[in-house]
Amino acid sequence: MLSPDLTCVARSPRQGALAVALRCAVAGALAATAHGALYAEQSASLANVDIKAVNTVCPVDGRPVDSSIPPITGRTRDGKRVVIGVCDESCAALVRAHPGWYADDAVANLRHGAAAGR
Ligand SMILES: [Zn+2]
Repeated sequence: MLSPDLTCVARSPRQGALAVALRCAVAGALAATAHGALYAEQSASLANVDIKAVNTVCPVDGRPVDSSIPPITGRTRDGKRVVIGVCDESCAALVRAHPGWYADDAVANLRHGAAAGR
């Protein structure tokens, strides 16, 4: 079981490993997205802002979403496209791996598993 505290505190060492993993997986696309998001934030809030996350709570561990992390697009069980915000890069990697697991949680703005009673 992944500890939210550890993953967020041990951020810098993990980012090295994560960067390598990402390079293999989604290198070009991710870099482009990250740059686009940064530029959009820096220059104008009017341009290209349909990448706004539906949630303010990270669906992986319940922490506040960090808007500097590029959100991930996923589909809910109903097939609706949603943009999922996360709190850090390690959560981003988890959501990227299984966006469908977290899409409904993002819409409910809850941590994954918190809405298990539905
Ligand atoms: Zn998180």
